[in-house]
Amino acid sequence: MTDDTFYGSDYGALKAFDPDIAGVLVSELERIRSGLQLIASENLSSPEVLTALGSTLSNKYAEGYPGRRYYGGCAEVDKAENIAIERCKALFDADHANVQAHSGASANQAVYGAFMKPGETILAMSLPHGGHLTHGTKMSFSGKWFNAVHYGVNQETEDIDYDQVEQLAREHRPKVICAGGSAIPRLIDFERFRAIADEVGAIFWVDAAHFIGLVAGKAIPSPVPYADVVTFTTHKVLRGPRSGALVCTEEHAKALDRAIFPMMQGGPQMHTIAAKAVNFLECATPQYQEYTRAVIENSQALAAALAERGIRPTTGGTDTHLSLLDLQGVEVTGADAEARADAAGIVLNKNAIPFDPQSPNIASGVRVGTPCVTTQGMGVAQMEIIAELIHTAVTKGDADPDHEVSRAVRAQVSELVTEFPAYPR
Ligand SMILES: *Cc1c(COP(=O)(O)O)cnc(C)c1O
Repeated sequence: MTDDTFYGSDYGALKAFDPDIAGVLVSELERIRSGLQLIASENLSSPEVLTALGSTLSNKYAEGYPGRRYYGGCAEVDKAENIAIERCKALFDADHANVQAHSGASANQAVYGAFMKPGETILAMSLPHGGHLTHGTKMSFSGKWFNAVHYGVNQETEDIDYDQVEQLAREHRPKVICAGGSAIPRLIDFERFRAIADEVGAIFWVDAAHFIGLVAGKAIPSPVPYADVVTFTTHKVLRGPRSGALVCTEEHAKALDRAIFPMMQGGPQMHTIAAKAVNFLECATPQYQEYTRAVIENSQALAAALAERGIRPTTGGTDTHLSLLDLQGVEVTGADAEARADAAGIVLNKNAIPFDPQSPNIASGVRVGTPCVTTQGMGVAQMEIIAELIHTAVTKGDADPDHEVSRAVRAQVSELVTEFPAYPR
């Protein structure tokens, strides 16, 4: 046995000891490889990131921050966290970074913890118009413990209604104003948000979970110069481990650090922090910048090709890695579209569109994103093919995988992913 056996990727030993879970690892990889992954919030992180994730750093208790831990033996993990912090600050040109959040939702909790007392007001985008659960919905801590006021999109443009943001801010004087969400295809006017926050004396928080990777790759403008705090996930376009992080101005560094630990979290996941460091290094390369530009180019090509086929992207298109598609023109519900695409080997998700007449469980739209297929090396020519396959599966297909359309589309998907494999052998 060599030391690499203990770095976390000894599949042979796992298979011998626990064939059940080893089997899941294999079949999940098979699932990823055999279909088209168009979930806008997913990506395929590198073997280097996965190696750091599956390492003995997972064992270490390191409550506190580098140099100020509540446990002994932290010298090595301190190195990993310091490297992650420095890389994160450099990548986003930020005063301060905290890389301990376990997830996007955890990073968001820290914003509430740092700036708000129960009952105080937050102004954020409404979930049905593209926001997020943690932005004050009733099912979430954020809506149970805080007074959430929501803005939406303009019915005509389907883009953020900035006049409404301004009017609600003046009326409710929120403690925090949040920009960002999980189904916003367009660039956000951070300067306008900053001006509104300044006028009413609010903290300006950007939840960049979805698009931070595009910022890291310098493919779209950064919120960092405008926001007091920017929270994000590290596993979406960014392509790192499943986790979260935040960057902020020096002024708010202490409050946010304390809100992450000890207010919201216990021991940090040092293996994940090491994997975040690896990912930040990847993001600083010209190849990653090229990747993020290709993600957007593909996303725009896919949206345009679907629009030609009667599947309308809301707002008329996209500036980012995702589009929100209105299926009312082809008279299919989001739920049916998701099931039909799935049966044909195309993984996407149903999504409410702004002013959706359907309930959220049915929905009139689907959300598609290009992070995964772009990681696999696909380009604009493949987006044309994918648009045709989506259109066929959604309008002529069936939720039954044995239906002839499901089979026919799956065969074409198979050709595509054979030419552009995920995790090539
Ligand atoms: C994905 C997402 C989150 C939550 O991230 P998790 O890691 O799933 O907790 C938060 N905010 C927005 C806008 C997101 O898109």
